[in-house]
Amino acid sequence: MRLLMAGSPGSGKGTHSRRLGEHLNVPHIATGDLLREQVSLGTPLGRNAQTFMDRGDYVPDDVMVAMIKDRLAQPDAQKGFILDGFPRTQGQADSLDKMLADLGTPIDAVIVLEVPTEEMVRRLSGRRTCPTCQRPYHMDDEPPKDDETCDDDGTKLERRADDEPDTVRHRLKVYADRTAGVVEHYDTDSVVKRINGEASVDEVQERIRTALGV
Ligand SMILES: [Zn+2]
Repeated sequence: MRLLMAGSPGSGKGTHSRRLGEHLNVPHIATGDLLREQVSLGTPLGRNAQTFMDRGDYVPDDVMVAMIKDRLAQPDAQKGFILDGFPRTQGQADSLDKMLADLGTPIDAVIVLEVPTEEMVRRLSGRRTCPTCQRPYHMDDEPPKDDETCDDDGTKLERRADDEPDTVRHRLKVYADRTAGVVEHYDTDSVVKRINGEASVDEVQERIRTALGV
């Protein structure tokens, strides 16, 4: 099964892609991981991507597309895959369509995890990390025993600048503006499955599997 997983930051798409990938026995391909891997291996694609990241720019579509193409050609992706974080732009969606049409393997479904904005703000702005041991916490869902300090070493927990509520709202808006067109792009093919993502991880995973019939 060839699937795309769409959802804004905080929607839980990484977790759900991973679990679904294990269930279907197909690789979960997250563009963020792929990018970090190519950069750390020092491949030509990775070095190319690095020059953009060093300048604080987005990695351009053609570089991302080349990276995905390379990954989809690996043996483990021949029986299917779950793409997480790609395509993110109309240009990437067009390139992916062309790539898969050439291979004769169209996308089976696009899963869109829908979570209300204020719930995503709650999820993201509640995150904290211990700067000493990197242990993650969530002030509502997985709070430390003591106020805002790490259970293991007593260090004061920190919130990433990205997770400040106003920044989160801005990130969500940027995400929505950039990707609305991508979901519409697939809507015409009626492969889009909209899933209500406001429930426990188990419950949402069950909804996804039911929608796909797997
Ligand atoms: Zn700690």
